[in-house]
Amino acid sequence: MRTTFFLSLRRVIRDLVHMEHQDLLAGFVRLHILHHAAEGDLYGQWMIEELGRHGYKLSAGTLYPMLHAMERRGYLTSRTERAGRSQRRIYRATPLGCDALALARERMRELFHEVLPREEPDHGSISHQ
Ligand SMILES: [Zn+2]
Repeated sequence: MRTTFFLSLRRVIRDLVHMEHQDLLAGFVRLHILHHAAEGDLYGQWMIEELGRHGYKLSAGTLYPMLHAMERRGYLTSRTERAGRSQRRIYRATPLGCDALALARERMRELFHEVLPREEPDHGSISHQ
């Protein structure tokens, strides 16, 4: 029990170091997950690498609980697939997740117009589709 506590404490500290302003950015990370899960299947390690390409350094200890929580809330559904000798959990957005993403897109557009007022919609912005 004690060991588990210290291990998870160490993980929390490591994650704090890796992802600054985590509370503030967690919503972006969730939406990023939802975006890819709406496009197709994804699994944890792939998502960690994808987020890494966008400058978010998340460990498995942060991402997996996020995926589980999103599944509990009905945004994602998962199934287990064999990957070589081990098993891999594959995630996909549910219809509720897609609805939530559509709403979040509207809100993001609105927020970005306010927060990034000088940004031209189709010039110099990197769109990730
Ligand atoms: Zn992406």
